[in-house]
Amino acid sequence: MSAGLNHAQLEAVHYIGGPCLVLAGAGSGKTRVITHKIARLIEVGLEPRRIAAITFTNKAAAEMRERAKGLIGRAAKDVLVCTFHALGVRLMREDGAVLGLKPQFSILDTDDVTSILKDAAGGTTDAATARQWQWTISKWKNMGLNAAQAQSVAADDNEKTIARIMQLYEERLAAYQSVDFDDLIGLPLKLLRDFPEVREKWQKKLGHVLVDEYQDTNATQYELLKLLVGERARFTAVGDDDQSIYGWRGATLDNLRKLPLDFPALKVVKLEQNYRSTSAILRAANNVIGPNPKLFPKTLFSELGEGEPVRVVDADTEEHEAERAVARIQGLRASHQHSEWRHFAVLYRANHQAKPFEKALRKAQIPYKVSGGTSFFDRTEIRDLCAWLRLWVNNDDDPAFLRAVATPKRGIGHTTLAQLGTFATQHKLSLFAALFSAMLPAVLPARALGGLHEFGRYVNDLAYRAGHTLGAEAARAFLAGWLADIGYERHLYDGEDSEKLAAARWSNVLDFCDWMAQRCGGQIEDASGASVTTETKSLLEVAQTIALLTTISEREQDQDVVTLSTLHASKGLEWPHVVLAGVTEGLLPFKIDDDGGRQQKDAPPHSPAARGPLPPEDVASGLGAARRPEVSEETAQRLQEERRLMYVGITRAQRTLAVSWTRKRKKGREMVPAQPSRFIAEMALDKAMAREDPREKLRALRAEFARRAEAPPTAHPAP
Ligand code: ATP
Ligand code: MG
Repeated sequence: MSAGLNHAQLEAVHYIGGPCLVLAGAGSGKTRVITHKIARLIEVGLEPRRIAAITFTNKAAAEMRERAKGLIGRAAKDVLVCTFHALGVRLMREDGAVLGLKPQFSILDTDDVTSILKDAAGGTTDAATARQWQWTISKWKNMGLNAAQAQSVAADDNEKTIARIMQLYEERLAAYQSVDFDDLIGLPLKLLRDFPEVREKWQKKLGHVLVDEYQDTNATQYELLKLLVGERARFTAVGDDDQSIYGWRGATLDNLRKLPLDFPALKVVKLEQNYRSTSAILRAANNVIGPNPKLFPKTLFSELGEGEPVRVVDADTEEHEAERAVARIQGLRASHQHSEWRHFAVLYRANHQAKPFEKALRKAQIPYKVSGGTSFFDRTEIRDLCAWLRLWVNNDDDPAFLRAVATPKRGIGHTTLAQLGTFATQHKLSLFAALFSAMLPAVLPARALGGLHEFGRYVNDLAYRAGHTLGAEAARAFLAGWLADIGYERHLYDGEDSEKLAAARWSNVLDFCDWMAQRCGGQIEDASGASVTTETKSLLEVAQTIALLTTISEREQDQDVVTLSTLHASKGLEWPHVVLAGVTEGLLPFKIDDDGGRQQKDAPPHSPAARGPLPPEDVASGLGAARRPEVSEETAQRLQEERRLMYVGITRAQRTLAVSWTRKRKKGREMVPAQPSRFIAEMALDKAMAREDPREKLRALRAEFARRAEAPPTAHPAP
C-alpha cells in the first residue's frame, strides 16, 4: 500500500497516533494522502465505520469513496466519507432528539428558506430583500449566534429588523421540524457542546477523522471538528492556504493558524512535488500566487516536463470567446491522441458565464455538463414542479409537501402549517398522513382543515390520474391541465419583478413538461425531428424516475462529457486540458477597485449564485490596470482571494492550459471596452507564454487527419 507515495506522503500516512496537518500546494497529493491513510488505518486494525473522512462537496466525497474502494475494496463502503453538512445530518438523525428534532426532520433548500422568510415578514417582501436577509441570518448562524444574540449584535435598524425576522424564522423551522443548511453545522455543534453523553459517544465512536480542503472550513466547522476528536485529537487535516477561496462564506485561514496552538502535539508535513501539471503550467501558477503573503513558505516543482506553453486567447465578445474555446477543444481532441470529452474543462468565475459555452458546445454537438452552477434541474421553477412530482410519488415527502402546498399559494397560512407540523410530530406522522388523521379536526379550525383536505384530495387525484395517463400526447394534455389548475404561469409572473425573467422561467417549465411527456413514449419525435413510435409509459412512472433524478444529479460524473464549471466548484479536481475563460480585468479579478467588497453581500449563501460571487447586473467597473487608485486593506485582501481563485483555476490543468479574455464585456445592457486581466501579465513572466495562433491549430488538425488516414486508431490508456 506504500506504492505511489513519496517519502513525505508516507510519513503523513503512517503517523496515526495524534493530530497531523499536511500543508502543501495544489496537486501535491494531499487528497491522495487521505485515501491512502484510510487504507492504512484499516490495515492497522481500525474498523472502517470508526473512520470519518470529511470533504468539501458531495462530488468530492463520491470521488473519494471510489478511490478508497480502489485501494481497500468493499470495506470502503463502511467508512463515513461525507461533507461536514452530511456528517451533521448523521449526528442529528442519531441524536437530534435531545434537541427536540424528530429523526425524519426536513432539510430546507435556499428557495424554501426564502419563501419562509418572505412569509414571516408578512409576504410583501421582494426576492432580493429576502435573499439579503438570508445572507445576514446565515452569517449570524455561522458565527454561532441565535436570534436573541443576533438582536444584541445588530449594527443598525435594518439588522435589528432582520434579527426579529430571524426569531420568527427560527420558530417556524421548529414547528415544521425543519432545519436549514447552516443548522446542519450549528445544531450538531450545540449537540456536542451541551450534551456530554452525546459528545463522549461520538468521540469514542470515531477513531480517526480526516479533513480534506481544510483551508476552507469556517469557525463553526472547526469547533465541530475539535469536539468530534476530543482530547485524543486523532485527526488528519490536509490543506493549502493558497487555495482558500471561501472567505466570503466565512471560511477563515485563522483555522490554519490556530491548529498548532490548539494542538501543541500537531505534526506538520509539507509536500513539495506536484504530480498533476507540467512545469509550464506550474510556473504560471507560482507566478500568480507569488505576490500573496505566505502563511508557510513552500515551493512546488514538477517532474512531468516542460509541456506545452500556456496559451493566451483573446476574443471580441463572450460568444466569440466560447467559439474559440470550442474550436480549441476540437483541435486538441484531434491532435492529442485518445483524448475523450471528459478530459476537457472550461472554467469561469460565475454561473452565468456558462451560457455562451453551452450554446457553442450544443452547436458543435459536443456533450457537456454544467457543474457547480444552476443545472436545469436546480432552477427554482423546475424544483417547484419536481416537488409536486415527488409528492405524487411519495406522499410522505415532507419537504416536497411544504413546497407544493405553498407553490402557488393556496390560502393555507403558516399558522395552519405550523399546527399541522406540531400535530404530525406528536403523532409521528408525515404531514400528508397527518392531514387525513381523524384527530386533526380537534386541533384545527374547520376552515383551515377544509383547505388542507382539498389540497390532499387534489394531490391524491393527480397521482391516481398520472398513473393512468399513458403516452406523450395524453401526458402533455395532463400536464397542461395541471399547470392551469394550480395557476403556475400566473404565479411566476406575480413572483418575478421582471417580465422577461418570468417569461424565461415559464419557457423552462414548458420545456420540462415537453421533455417529460416525450419520455412517456408513444408517437414522439427523435433527436433528428423524425416521428417514431415507442413503448408507452405512465406519467407516474416517468415522475418516479425524475423525482429520483433530482436527488442524484451529483452522480452523473462518469459520463464522457466536457465539464463547464465555476472555479469554486472545480476545487480539488483535475483535467488534462483546461480553458480558463473570462480572464478579463473586472471579471477576474472581480471589480477589485471600485466596490469595496460590496458584491459579497449580494450573493446569498448556498444559492447556486453564491458559488462564485455574482456581480450585480447594473454595475461594472470597466477599470483597467491603468487607473488603479490607492488600495485599502479590504481591497488588498479581496485581491489576495482573487489571486487564490486564479491559482486554483490554473492548477486544475494537467497537460494544456489556455486563458482567454474578451475585448468587450457587458456593463448593464451596454458593451464596454475591456482589458486582459492583470493576472495574465503576471503569468507571462517568462517565455512559457505564447499567443494562440489559429494557423498553428489548422496545421495540427491537417497533420492529424493525414496521420489517421494512414493508421487505424488503437486503444491507449488515458493520460
Ligand atoms: P489539490 O490541492 O488540487 O486538491 P491535491 O494536493 O489534493 O491537489 P491530489 O489530487 O491528491 O493532489 O493529487 C494530484 C494528482 O497527482 C493526482 O492525479 C494523483 O493521483 C497524483 N499523485 C499524487 N501523489 C502521487 C505520487 N506519489 N505518485 C504519483 N502520482 C501522485
Ligand atoms: Mg485535493
